[in-house]
Amino acid sequence: MNTHLAKKFISIDRDFIWHPYTQMKDFEHKDPLFVERGEGVFLYDVYGKAYYDTISSWWCIVHGHNHPHIKEAITRQINILDQVHFAGTTHEPAIRVAELLREFVPKRLSRIFFSDNGSTAVEVALKMAVQYWHHAGFSEKNTFVSLEYGYHGDTIGAMSLGGVPQFKGPFDALTFDSIRLPAPYCYRCPMGQEKGECDIDCLNPLEDILKEKRDQIAGIILEPLLMGAGGMLVYPETYLKRLEALIKDKEIFLIFDEVATGFARTGEMFAFMKAGVIPDFLCISKGLTGGILPLGATLTTEDVFNSFYAEYIEGKTFYHGHTFTANPLSTAAARASLELFKLNPIVESVKAKELILQNSVKAFMDFPFVGDIRGIGMVWAFELVKDKETKTPFPTEFRAGWKVYQEGLKHGLILRPLGDVTYLFLPQCITKRQIEDCLQRLWTTF
Ligand code: PLP
Repeated sequence: MNTHLAKKFISIDRDFIWHPYTQMKDFEHKDPLFVERGEGVFLYDVYGKAYYDTISSWWCIVHGHNHPHIKEAITRQINILDQVHFAGTTHEPAIRVAELLREFVPKRLSRIFFSDNGSTAVEVALKMAVQYWHHAGFSEKNTFVSLEYGYHGDTIGAMSLGGVPQFKGPFDALTFDSIRLPAPYCYRCPMGQEKGECDIDCLNPLEDILKEKRDQIAGIILEPLLMGAGGMLVYPETYLKRLEALIKDKEIFLIFDEVATGFARTGEMFAFMKAGVIPDFLCISKGLTGGILPLGATLTTEDVFNSFYAEYIEGKTFYHGHTFTANPLSTAAARASLELFKLNPIVESVKAKELILQNSVKAFMDFPFVGDIRGIGMVWAFELVKDKETKTPFPTEFRAGWKVYQEGLKHGLILRPLGDVTYLFLPQCITKRQIEDCLQRLWTTF
């Protein structure tokens, strides 16, 4: 695109569009990155410059942009059926993807409820959990346990359970309370312990909570092994094991939000598989379609399903749905994506790439402002600090993360730090050579 036309479009954007998670004032001095096309792990701007999509376009791209198999599935489907409501109807793409997904999850998660994004996948789990207890005669079981620094989406219910203060700011009056547990933020351990040397004491408060409030708790929600938006906090599998042991037989649902961690990002198809802890609800989205089209899903057990199975008159229907629930194009894309998982050893390849990343990122500790490096699978984060000894953060107004973002663009990297946490959330399809190139560019960026 020529510069004149590009500038014209940008000025329309400035005049009419409001971007998410963006202080629009940024655009006073800096144009938004004007993306024209995507191919594999690269995005290209309108001037033809290539950038590594190091954050998988907000953590969803799995097989790369413009993947022929997914593209073909969507194209085929659009000629057959584009959209139909899903109440009282069904269609082949939804049935086929459900059938295929069943092969990737434990048998216990035998029921799938479709929605259209990650937040709605979470909302569905919350509502199903509360309604289940209501059916069982325990209407007082209507509160949730959630984690500081947790993130579950931006709708009011999902946001209520989120623990990132900036995101909730003015909405206190709209959100409902949940019972908070300290986050397993190992670099800044809430229990004052050293990283890697603990008995998961940050779960100790749950013991008291269970003693006092067990009868009010419908479920506990968390992002297994990797808390994304809270700062890419990676924590050990033993956390999930201890959690499972603590709530065993306590009649509290375990809700895993794998919207970000699903689809091999952590080195197993789902992160919970690393710990062998199976939840009562599994919320998925993002990578479900390979990251190409919006789709969400909430998987749960036959026990939960059966509690809703009744005559209308009994008032047990799940009155929840979205216009684009199980959209045929999205479900066709999801099926194609899952087929790629069957055809290719993606999970195994992530394990190999994790090793490369793990070994290569160590060198970044030499930078005086890199306080912590943490990672799992395709996700590796660098917490930037002003003082490494004391772990003192940079002042907010210094905008260390923003500076890294701007510098990264010059080196062909689309980074989008979370505050002062710069991270790579790489597409699973990235090659070993591309990983090395990416890290080299990140080095130069720093
Ligand atoms: N849950 C987690 C763990 C997420 O990371 C996100 C989004 O980043 C969501 C839920 C919300 O998903 P969506 O943005 O599709 O609503």
